[in-house]
Parts: sequence; C-alpha cells; structure tokens
Amino acid sequence: MGLLPYFCGKDCGGDACPLLAEVEAGRVVGMHHNPAAGQWIRACGKGMRAHIEHYSPNRITKPLVRRGPRGSGDFVEASWDEALALVARRLSEIRAESRLGAVMSIASAGSTGALHNTEVLALRFLNAIGGAVHVSGNYSSNAANYALARMFGASVGESGFDPASLAFSNLIVLWGANPLEARLGAELPSRLVEAKKRGSRIVAIDPRYSRSARGLGAEWIPVRPGTDPALGYALLYEIVNSPQYDHEYVAERAEGFDALVRFVLGEIDGIPKSPQWAAPICGIEESMIRRLARLWWQEQPVMLIPGYSIQRVEYGEEAFRLTVAIQLAAKNSGKLGASNGSINNRLPGITIAKMREIPESIPSETVYSAKVPVLRWADAVLNPQQYGLGKIRMLYSAGGNFLNQGANIQKNIEAFEAVDFAVCHELFLTPTARYSDVVLPAADPFEKEDIGIPWAGDYVLYKPKIFEPEGMARSDFQIFSELAERLGAKEIFTGGKNESQWIAYLMAESGIPDIEAFKQSGFYAMPQRLRAGLDAFFADPASNPLQTKTGKIEFSSPLWTYEMARFWEQRNGAKEDNAAKEDDTAPKGNADPKAPKKGQGELSDGSSFKLLTPKVAEFVHSQRGAFPDSAKKARIHMHPEDLALIGATEGAVLSIWNDYGAVLAVASLDANIRRGTVWLEEGVWAEPENGLDPNGSANMLTSDRGTLESTSCIMHGIEVWIELPPGARS
Ligand code: SF4
Repeated sequence: MGLLPYFCGKDCGGDACPLLAEVEAGRVVGMHHNPAAGQWIRACGKGMRAHIEHYSPNRITKPLVRRGPRGSGDFVEASWDEALALVARRLSEIRAESRLGAVMSIASAGSTGALHNTEVLALRFLNAIGGAVHVSGNYSSNAANYALARMFGASVGESGFDPASLAFSNLIVLWGANPLEARLGAELPSRLVEAKKRGSRIVAIDPRYSRSARGLGAEWIPVRPGTDPALGYALLYEIVNSPQYDHEYVAERAEGFDALVRFVLGEIDGIPKSPQWAAPICGIEESMIRRLARLWWQEQPVMLIPGYSIQRVEYGEEAFRLTVAIQLAAKNSGKLGASNGSINNRLPGITIAKMREIPESIPSETVYSAKVPVLRWADAVLNPQQYGLGKIRMLYSAGGNFLNQGANIQKNIEAFEAVDFAVCHELFLTPTARYSDVVLPAADPFEKEDIGIPWAGDYVLYKPKIFEPEGMARSDFQIFSELAERLGAKEIFTGGKNESQWIAYLMAESGIPDIEAFKQSGFYAMPQRLRAGLDAFFADPASNPLQTKTGKIEFSSPLWTYEMARFWEQRNGAKEDNAAKEDDTAPKGNADPKAPKKGQGELSDGSSFKLLTPKVAEFVHSQRGAFPDSAKKARIHMHPEDLALIGATEGAVLSIWNDYGAVLAVASLDANIRRGTVWLEEGVWAEPENGLDPNGSANMLTSDRGTLESTSCIMHGIEVWIELPPGARS
C-alpha cells in the first residue's frame, strides 16, 4: 500500500500531528514525518511509535463482562449481542427506576478528531436518549481557563500567538513550561530550537531544570513549587516601580489593574510584594528576581510562555492573572515576538465542522443536563446531595481513565464500588476498565477515518481508515449507534449518516478548498501567518475593544486580592514556624509524627518533600500504560543529596506517601532539581491494595479539594513523605 496519511490525535497538547504510515503486506512497518506539513510541524516520539500501540498484544479484542470483584480483572468474554443487550438493559432499568440524573458520563478525550471524539460521541449518545450528569471543566488547564476567561471575556480565543512569531523574540521565558517534552502545540518545539540557534535568550522558571531547559540551554530560575504567584508579584512590583512604567497605557487597556498594583505595593495589607519579600518564599536570590524583572524591559519583545504546571497548584488561577499583568505592564502584549501571558490555544483559522454533543434533531432545552466539576466526579457519586443530585447509579466511560487520572484514586475506587453498573469503551484493560462491569473493545486510530484538529496551529489533518478493527473491536461511533438503536434513538444519534457520510459532511462544511488534495496529502494549512493575538486591541483599545463588560482586560477581583493577601500571610507564617523543613538547602529527616501512615508499616525516618507529577515523554496521560516500551513502575526523581539523606541509592524502591495514599517507586537521581522537591512520573496504571500502589501511580497522592475559585486540580507542590520501605532498610 505504500505511504498513507495518518495523524496522531492524542490529547497531549499536540492533539493532531501529521505523519505517514508505511504499510507493507498489510502491516504498518514504520511511521514517517509527513513532508506535506513542512519543516516546523512535527510529531513527537510517541507519534513515531503509534504502530506499536496498534500491534500491542494487550489490546482488548472482544467484549468483556465482569465475573469477579471490581478491580480483580476477572472478566468473561461475551458476544456483542450479549454485551450490548446488557448495557442497554441496565441503562433502561436504571433510568426507569431512578431518573436521567442517575447516569454520569465520565467520557474523555482518549480519541480526538472531528468525528471520532470520544467525549463528544458519549455526550451525543447520552443526550440522544434524554441526557445524563456530565462533568464540567478539565484536569489540564481549568484554573488558567477560568482566570483567562474572566480577564479577556469572549476574546480569550484570540489571545494567543502564531508560533512562527518566535522569530521576533529576544527573550523567551518558559514559566513552568516544558514544551519539548509536554507539548504546547506541534510547531512550538521546532520554533524554540530555531529561536535558540538565532540567538534568543531563554530563561526557564521551574523547580526542575527540565528537558526543554536543558535542550535549549536556558538560564534557570529554580523556584520552589507553587510559589510562582509570589515571583509574579515581585516581578510586577519591579516593573511598575521602573521609570519605563506607563500608567496611562495600562489604564487604557485594563480595568481593576490599580487594585492589583496597590496589593503588590503593599497598600492593601501593609506588605510590599517586593523581591525582598518574594525571595525567601520562592527560595531564590532577591538579586535573581531583580535581574529577571530588568530583562522584561531590556530584552523586548519578551515571549512569556506559561505552562499548565503553574496553575495546577494551590491558587493556580492567580499565576495566570499575573502572567497577563506582567506582559501588559511591561508593554509586551499584542506585539510580534511577545505574548499576552495567555495559554497559546489555536488562534482563529481554518473553519472545521465537528460533530455536535446535542443531536441536531432535538432542541437542547429538552435534554437533561446537570454538571459537576470534573475534579469532583467521584465526590459527586459518593455525596450527590452536596451537588444537588440524586443517587448516581451508573458510570459511562469512553476514551477516559478517570479512576487513574482523576485526583485521589482511592476515592475514585470507592465511587466505582458505589454504583450499580459501570461501562467502558477501551483498547486496553486500564484501571477504569478493571473496575467496570462491561468493557467494550474500541477501534484504534488506524481503524478509523477522521479529520484532525490541532490544539494550536493553523492547519488540519486527514487520515483514512487503514485497517478493519482488530478482532471484534468496533468504533465508538458504531458502538453508540448500536446501543442507540436498542434504545430507540439510532436516527437521533447518527443524524441519518454513517461514518463515511459524516466525514464527507464535515469536510464539505469546513473551509478546506480542495478536499481531494487534502485526502491525498493528509495536510492542509493556511498560508503561514504571523499573528500576535489581540494586536489591534493593544494598539488602539478604544477602537478595538475586547468582548468584556468594559471592553478592557478585567483584573478586578476583591476575592482574589483579599484571599491572596490572607493566603500569603498564612504561608509566610507557616514558613517561619517551620523554617527548617522549608529550607530546601537542607531538608531534614524525621517524618511528622502526626502524619498518616497508610498502606505500610511503622515509619521511622521519612522526610517531607514537595512532589511534582509532570507529564513525561513516555506517556500521554495514562495512554501507553500497556506498552512493552513503557515502565510498569514509576520512577521518583530526587536530588542526589536528598536521596542520600533518606539512606537510599539509585534504583532503590521507595515508599512515598501522604494523607491520600501511598505508592512505591524506583529512585532515580536528578541533579537538575532544587533540593526538597521531587518528581514522580505521571501516567502509570494503579493496582492498589490496602491504600498502597506498587506501581507508583501519581494520583494515589493527589487530592480532589481543588483550587480557590475554579475547583481545579492540584498536581504539584504536594507534600509527601519518602522513605525506604521497612524491609529494605539495612
Ligand atoms: S505531540 Fe501528541 S499528538 Fe503529537 S505525535 Fe506526540 S503524542 Fe501524538
């Protein structure tokens, strides 16, 4: 067959990367860069190994029905007729006995694309049969989305930049961003490498000297995890106190900025948020902060690229309020080579039609819909009255692995154990699948025709269906169609079209000029554009107002200001009380005697550390967890002196634990991390027993409490204790 267009559509911050699949004698023998996409838009190593997933011996190829206890992995194979009849019957019974709100969708973005988007397909199916409880928000960028929408209103979608504009950047600041490993679009990595070659100065603000920082030879500002807002206040303090600061310029473009500045200057709580104030909080030199602030004026245009990590912490919303404030105050916003401090999502570009969550033939007001924040899905199952819900009796998962990827795995297991019935579409027997009653085998990306829509970038992709689904697997569209037919809603769900007809319809509705050429090459892009988001607004705000109430960026938030004052006051107090433990240059041993002891024996010498749970090159969330080339047990990366402090050496299996659970992980040395901070590879599948996961799944240690206003996840800066398990001590 030769080379066929393919795209990797994983929900990783790439979302659609162009590739060619080399097919010989009915097998994919290799993946290649698609030359039609040019030199900048490139797949990562995971995309280049996509065929390994296709041929994995661990694929589920037959419907499975649970026989043993939940989580045991004891299933019996079933025919499609038996499995679909069971799911349709339980859906009907539960909805008849209870209400539509007794079913919760925990579908997610395991498969993306204009048609085969698992989250959309699941919602469309459940809406076609009357509705269900859905989750709102996401685990990725919820706090940032919340803050940015408040500041930019409906103009938020125009607040990014075209990656090609990095050609104009003098200074690039990666603030908690690691885009060479955890992608922020498929074009950004190559543009960063090019900018470095061209001579741009690159600074990385990060507790780790990340792969991107190393690869780009960045200057390192090693902040303590979760203290980015304190650094942001101090930078703003320096910027607004500099002679270049133009108050009138800012006032014309921002509402509520004065209150933020008064807070930063200490006029609200009596504490100036100066570099002197921030340095001990952030664990860096005061002079380092002053130097960095000066660069904001000296090295313009400054491309500030905030990563998701700075908002996956306590008060994560505040980090993004400050990235926007700093760029505005230093007159960097709206300029080529700079950024607005926003998330760089897709700027307006090619129009792409997508399947809708609510079928076209039914009015949205007739569909039942209740929403709970995604972070609290398990809590809503266990305490529905707190969310205004009745008892939730059924969970429906497609393209998701919430049991593993949602915060607080032990609570997630309790939620699965509390429902009457759980169904899941899957390629592999993930932890979520193991706790389900029925597992329906889903087709993989080589087995589905689709249109790819990138997370950022002015292009779209196409792939044909290269193979028929493996074994008895079926596409999610087909599974939902057949279930809908059993429930009398097939025509509503499908809209009268099969998969190929949907693809033809979506292409025809999209702004792709030559569909045949697009299908041949698999790639269509707008002529290269160099856009700085919202440039017209920043150049002339009166003539080009934002879509906000005031037409300006809205910083006002009494809650933010006063709540943040209280938070930093408390945090400072805690620091003084606990100065020894917070001193990263010398983390002390001795676990807190009041700390929990879960899933392991008595502790004697554990030490408290701040845990990061970053995305790593091997996994996309928990995808690839079943791969032969992925580690089964996670590694915990520690500074050599910290590892020595707990009496362990590289390769030792360590216990890591806190209030939420305990894991085992393999010690790995990382001299490029600040002392007192450790990082655990995220994505490994949990198999916990009695609160201890031997595989090291990160969400055994995370909480579903969430951030200040937006109930977003906290995945970094988590306090944990680490020690050699009792049996391993000499
Ligand atoms: S960046 Fe994401 S979408 Fe692109 S190839 Fe890698 S895993 Fe696939």
